[in-house]
This record gives sequence, C-alpha cells and structure tokens, in this order.
Amino acid sequence: MKRGFDRLERLCRSTCGSALGIRPAVTRFSFRISATDGSARTGVITMQRGEIRTPAFMPVGTAATVKAVGPVEVRAAGADIILGNTYHLMLRPGAERVAKLGGLQRFMGWERPILTDSGGYQVMSLSELTKVTEAGVSFASHLDGSRYMLSPERSVEVQRLLGSDIVMQFDQLVPTTSTQEQQAEAMERSIRWARRSREEFDRGGAHAERAAIFGIQQGALDERLRAASADALIDIGFDGYAVGGLAVGEGQEAMLGCLDFAVDMLPSERPRYLMGVGKPDDIVQAVLRGIDMFDCVLPTRSGRTGQAFTADGPLNIRNARHADDPEPIEAGCPCPACNAFSRAYVHHLVKAGEILGAMLMTQHNLWFYQRMMQDLRQAISDQRLQSFAREFLVRYLRRN
Ligand SMILES: [Zn+2]
Repeated sequence: MKRGFDRLERLCRSTCGSALGIRPAVTRFSFRISATDGSARTGVITMQRGEIRTPAFMPVGTAATVKAVGPVEVRAAGADIILGNTYHLMLRPGAERVAKLGGLQRFMGWERPILTDSGGYQVMSLSELTKVTEAGVSFASHLDGSRYMLSPERSVEVQRLLGSDIVMQFDQLVPTTSTQEQQAEAMERSIRWARRSREEFDRGGAHAERAAIFGIQQGALDERLRAASADALIDIGFDGYAVGGLAVGEGQEAMLGCLDFAVDMLPSERPRYLMGVGKPDDIVQAVLRGIDMFDCVLPTRSGRTGQAFTADGPLNIRNARHADDPEPIEAGCPCPACNAFSRAYVHHLVKAGEILGAMLMTQHNLWFYQRMMQDLRQAISDQRLQSFAREFLVRYLRRN
C-alpha cells in the first residue's frame, strides 16, 4: 500500500506538482508549453532553484566555472541554467568534497539550476585504458593516470553529491562509424543502464524529491534503433529526454536528417534536449524540429580563441583588419564588451594574450547565444518562426 502511494505521489509530482493536494509545497519539475509553431515550442520548465525558459541554451561550466566569466556575468547574459561535467568534477575537486561544501551551486556561486552530464562522453573521449563491461566503464584519469570506475549507479551518485538539478542517465557511446551491430549493442546496453540510472536516482531520498532525471535516446543515425531506444526509455519513464550520440562528426545534414525522425519519437509533453549542439545555425534548425534544450562549449571556447559570433556570421577578432576599427565587436549588441570597447581594443587584448580579451570575447558570445534563444522564443510565440529562421540563416551563413 505504502509503495503504491509512493508511486502515485511520484507520478503526481512529476506531472503537475501539486495535483490532488498530496504535496502542495514547491514544484519539483514541470514543463509548461505556452506556444507552438510547426514542430517548435516555447515554454517554461519550473524547478525549485528557478525557471528555465525554453528553447534554452546552457553555457558549459566544465570545471565548476564557465571559463573566463563569473556567475553574475553568465546570468546577466540571460542564462537560466548551466551545465556541469561529472567526469571533470569527480576527478577534481572530487564529488564528495563538493558535497561537503554544500553542493556545486554554493561551491561556484550559481544558485540557479544546474544540469550535469553523466560522464560517459568524457570517459570515452578523454580518459585512457578504458574498459567497458555490463557493470560500467573503468578508466584511467587523464590528469594523473589513477583508475576509476563509472557505472550507472556511481554516475548518478556523483551527480547527487554535486547537487545536480537535472541528472542525466549513464549511457554508452560508440562512434557513428561503428558497425550496425556495435551501435545496436550500445543502444541496448544504454537502455539497461537507463533503468539502473533511474533506480539509483529514485533511491536518492531528499535529492530525488527536488531534482529531475533525463533519459538519453541512442541509436546513431538508424531510425529503427532510435525508435527502439525511445520506446524503451518511455517505458522506464523520465522527466525529459535527450537526443544523444549526435554532433560527433556526422555533419549537419546527417544530424538534421536524424532529428527529422528522432525528435517525434520522444514525448511532446516533456523537454527534449539535443546534447552538445552547437553552432548557431544548428540550433535554429533543431528548434524548428522541436528541440527545447541545448549545450555547447562553442561560445566560450571560441571566445577564448578569438572567434566572435555575430548575426553576420563568425568573426575572427585576431584578423589584422580589426587593428584600427573603432566599432564594437557587433554593432547594436547590448553586451558589456560591445557597450564599452572597440574591435581595435579587443583585437589588441587578444593578440597580446591579455586575460581581459578572453573575458570580453566570452561575454559577447554568451550574450549573442542568449539573445538568439530569446529571439527564437519570441518568434515561436508570435507564430513567425519560419520567416525568422529563414532570415537568420541567410544572414548568418552569407559570408561563410
Ligand atoms: Zn557584444
């Protein structure tokens, strides 16, 4: 009886928070769609640490910092949520240490929602001597070679210790160049790991009472595998669903072709998150196909290497033609860098390797991405996404 009640309560909380009056306090997780335009939607995810406007872009805070900017600047750019990397944080400074210090939000001074990845992607791309078994993945740290084990249980435990608001299931990734058989095996193992991730999340006590967990659809570019993955994940039941295994070198056309069938397989009443994407034109195209959440290192990493994003496409501030240019990085941009400084000054800073150059470029790029998301949300609300997207893409891609 108690078990049945717990299940009812969980169902109730996951759908509407306060229905039936069982738990009227604070919404754990809700997703309200306020407008749709074609396959695209705009809305709000509500969690205890704050609201997330969708479509949303999450700046990446790999090592408990969005590189080169403070949390106040990240928020000022318009971000509602950031992403933290489980793999990096478990190695340094360590999840147990972060937990003792009050969780990642307090540790890094960002009191709003944080989504943590499962560590699976970095384990496969960064670590060495990796060994994958049904239990999980053992690997050697890229920092000092010491050995670790990540399993669905340990991944969710680390995310809980970090105080994650949105936990990602642990999954197995294989290159898109793998054989069909390898892709099918990885997808099926990811389903078994999804179930174990969900069970470990549900054992999390107070954390499970306030956080959410997303499943990850796998299956490379294969429609049948994607469908099988989605069906199995829906059967387990998650708060949101990610499209995984894309943006790993397959090219934009193949990625969009996959989204054309993969997105519709995921429940429309739940947030849909395209992991690791991407360039501004990728994001606009994916929003058109019904994606609600994104993360990517591009605005921050590019900022540090001298690439600025503008409505007219990327701009290399290191280029000599900017040395005497008194105009801002992007005319009309309201960001702190464009408000106060010229291209000539930022060019000088970046060329001289000054830290402020990386800070200003990163700020501009974060503002550009968040303004683009705001424009997309507004265009969906106004039912003019098609024309907005067409104009955006023509202008953005013109000189590339
Ligand atoms: Zn700017």
